[in-house]
Amino acid sequence: MTHANGTYAAASRAAVFEVRDLHVAVDGREILGGVDLVVRAGEVHALMGRNGSGKSTLAYAVTGHPRYQVTRGQVLLNGEDLLAMKPDERAKAGLFLAFQNPIAVPGVATGNFLRAAMKAVRGTEPINAVQFRKELSERMQHLKMDPAFATRSLNDGFSGGEKKLTEMLQLAMLKPRLAILDEPDSGLDIDAVRTVSDGINTVHAQQSEMGILLITHYQRILNYVRPDTVHVMAQGQIIESGGPALVQQLEEEGYDPILARHGIVSTEEVSADGR
Ligand code: ADP
Ligand code: MG
Repeated sequence: MTHANGTYAAASRAAVFEVRDLHVAVDGREILGGVDLVVRAGEVHALMGRNGSGKSTLAYAVTGHPRYQVTRGQVLLNGEDLLAMKPDERAKAGLFLAFQNPIAVPGVATGNFLRAAMKAVRGTEPINAVQFRKELSERMQHLKMDPAFATRSLNDGFSGGEKKLTEMLQLAMLKPRLAILDEPDSGLDIDAVRTVSDGINTVHAQQSEMGILLITHYQRILNYVRPDTVHVMAQGQIIESGGPALVQQLEEEGYDPILARHGIVSTEEVSADGR
């Protein structure tokens, strides 16, 4: 693994998220073969790579999806052993995953869903209904969301961009320590990418200590959400890490040269299943 700049050594803020030598298998087949990653408070890390390189696997494994079996390594959130926790405990500890394809929940109003999610994450701490409504409407305003979304069924009939913005609303309400955003730009046109990017930046400006791991295949969203560090994943490993210049390099050259430098023949796109 190459660290093209001194980001890690120079950083003095506390690590919120540490992944050490993470190996993950699905159905007995190794998908991640030793991933190392450190996100410090307030940092935005971009995790880039072609389809099938293992980006979502990392996201699912650290959130505790039962199909993704950690066979080796460590994951820490604020120094706490995440892998020893159940998925709901991980959320309580401050981990949030925004899915690539958020599901619709007909019959459950977005506002009620958010209240239930907050309750689940905060545990016994009571949530004042009036306070909640006030905060919800403020956060929606910040994200330039139509107040009507609060009473509409979660993601039901929402456009791609509206679904992703609703994920950002969850972020704004739940205030995690680390947010993993899995391809928040996937399937969006450029206007929607800008809207979602504005949403991410708005939430991050309000929660400056939150770490963000932004997973993306394309550099486009990184024109709007500027990463501190960029990682390139291939075949279940981070093969290169660097500053924002790496995004520019990928835009100009595509993934082939970087993969070739690491002796990887680019076959992933062919075997990709789009997950
Ligand atoms: P990315 O998110 O970078 O596109 P994924 O993490 O989804 O990549 O996939 C990495 C590899 O792991 C692929 O070969 C994919 O087929 C495999 N994989 C991921 N999740 C599953 C699953 N639930 N069942 C079977 N194979 C999976
Ligand atoms: Mg994926």
